[in-house]
Amino acid sequence: MTRRHFIGTALAAPVRSGAPARLAVPVHRVVDARSQCPPGQLHHFWSDIWPEAVGDFSRGGVELEPSDGPGEVRRSPGDRPIFIGLRRGVINLVLTDHLPLYWDSDRALAGVSTLHDGYPVCMIALRYAHGNQIPFLSVNTCVHELLHALLQDIFVSRPKWYQSGGREFRIDWYATCLWLFHDGAAIRQSAQVCLDRLRSAAALRNEGARQECGRLGDA
Ligand SMILES: [Zn+2]
Repeated sequence: MTRRHFIGTALAAPVRSGAPARLAVPVHRVVDARSQCPPGQLHHFWSDIWPEAVGDFSRGGVELEPSDGPGEVRRSPGDRPIFIGLRRGVINLVLTDHLPLYWDSDRALAGVSTLHDGYPVCMIALRYAHGNQIPFLSVNTCVHELLHALLQDIFVSRPKWYQSGGREFRIDWYATCLWLFHDGAAIRQSAQVCLDRLRSAAALRNEGARQECGRLGDA
């Protein structure tokens, strides 16, 4: 064995020892049936933005496991969104043309993520959505919004707080680590906690509904 070969083998050893940890994250995708976006925007999302997000997460050890279902975003008189088609215990990714004014307030946001009536929702405005552009400043919209959920921002604040600089920079920093350095260790750790919280909340709600049905049945 030559010296160069020995050093090369030693450097490669830590990488080879043990496959990196991986975490599956269920994402339920809903295209807002009421959205009026041109077909090109939807195509751009499915052909560029979504695959890039899947690749970024995958290289960081996070596998997005998509499911699809029908749904729509109705607007109440106060423009508060009413979601149809969401699922509990998973991240709901809702694609629409523009965000409800209730959240957007004319800021032309590309997305917003929140816990809405107990449902985790990442909502993306297709007309403003984009892929990775500038490290730490402008990253893939889908990655950015999913990270708001996986890093548990959705549990601690309201959407208007998300726009505060510190929180946004934190998200873009983690997204850039995924994109350029394939580093998803901290994300996996937080995402596991996030999924546990969502699943236990869904289980509690199901148990409550079951008991309510039982009471009605007894009445
Ligand atoms: Zn954000």
